[in-house]
Amino acid sequence: MKHSLPNKNERFLYLEPYTFSVMAGNDVLIYNSLNGRILEYRDSPAVARFISEAEDPGGGFLAAMDTEPGNPEIASLVADLRESFCGDLVSASGKLRPSVIRPKPVIKNYPPDKDSPSFSADDYLRNIYFFLNQDNNEVCTDYRFAANQFFCPVFNQQGYSEMQFETVFNTCSRYTGVSGMEISLSGSDITAYSEIKNVISRIHKLLLPVTFHLPLPCSDPDVVSRLLRIPKSRTSLYISFPGGPKALKAIRRNPEYIKKQHLVDLNFMIRSLDEYKAVTELLQEPGKEKVFLFPYFDGGNSGFFKENVFLSKDEILSLKPTQKQIYSRSLINEQLYGKIFILTGGEVCANMNTGPIGNINTHSMEELVRHEIAGGQCWEMTRMKVTPCSECLYRLFCPPVGNYELFMKKFNFCDVL
Ligand code: SF4
Repeated sequence: MKHSLPNKNERFLYLEPYTFSVMAGNDVLIYNSLNGRILEYRDSPAVARFISEAEDPGGGFLAAMDTEPGNPEIASLVADLRESFCGDLVSASGKLRPSVIRPKPVIKNYPPDKDSPSFSADDYLRNIYFFLNQDNNEVCTDYRFAANQFFCPVFNQQGYSEMQFETVFNTCSRYTGVSGMEISLSGSDITAYSEIKNVISRIHKLLLPVTFHLPLPCSDPDVVSRLLRIPKSRTSLYISFPGGPKALKAIRRNPEYIKKQHLVDLNFMIRSLDEYKAVTELLQEPGKEKVFLFPYFDGGNSGFFKENVFLSKDEILSLKPTQKQIYSRSLINEQLYGKIFILTGGEVCANMNTGPIGNINTHSMEELVRHEIAGGQCWEMTRMKVTPCSECLYRLFCPPVGNYELFMKKFNFCDVL
């Protein structure tokens, strides 16, 4: 849009509504979420002051230009903003001061009115993870932190324990057919679960999408093909080393598996370069499964883990989030929001890296969800709430805080800060 500039004392700087800025001291980053352009200014008090004024709703999202007449940094800022379609100057006529309308993030049912009598957990819950069994067998012990980093297998220092299937069924029956709701059944190895036949014959009655998470090798590979026959279901296999690749080769020959392989996720839990090479060899054989590589941190492989999980500044800046992602990430943690995890003893956690928020046997779903929302430990854990990300110029670009970071209690898997 063109503006006439009758009087330079009445000119104001504004940022376009799809443009975002981040400030850290006198450093400023401006990001155009439509064309991906990034402007960065280091140690510039004048630019920092102008941009904070242009981001101030009280001032109509406008910075008055006449406060820094002839400042070359500001002249260059204006030229950069124009050239990158991030902002421009607007002129005011007479006594009327213009104002810019900038959108505000809004999320359905957010912020939640947790004290309202009509508060319903159903408005927030999206996925319930049940751990049907937990064990300290060899695979579980070798991957004892798998549930903290992804979901399976699940370790239990005390030995084998199970959840009653009735607990799953009763908890989920109120959500039968509810759109947007999903359940996940995981554990140490659900093919060894004593009620697996009951699961196979009844779980579809809930009319909910369900994902089964199980390790390979598992104790009864035939169960996998029976799980694959269940309507509205996916099967997520976690391939452990050393036995997983051989078990996968065998299961891939099963006719039912071949028919349903498009409903399978293969998650390779990799601890070293050698395991990575084994995976690449295995993947030479064509298949229709979705493949994910999960570096697994076992406490002794920090070099390998760092190389494969940490992001460089260039990688972070190339992520180019959309306007919607930036809005949502400013309020909630998209990866963690709406999920709860129920252990064999009924303990409920909003994340496997934080303590229980209650017990499914003694608390209602409303109480549990209310607790997480009031405490804000996981669902609202944005980069603004963790150190050093809250002070970082690139925090708009980074994906939400994830399980690896929560597990290691380190929030800068990057070479930035
Ligand atoms: S310090 Fe945090 S916000 Fe900044 S780049 Fe690293 S991970 Fe992202």
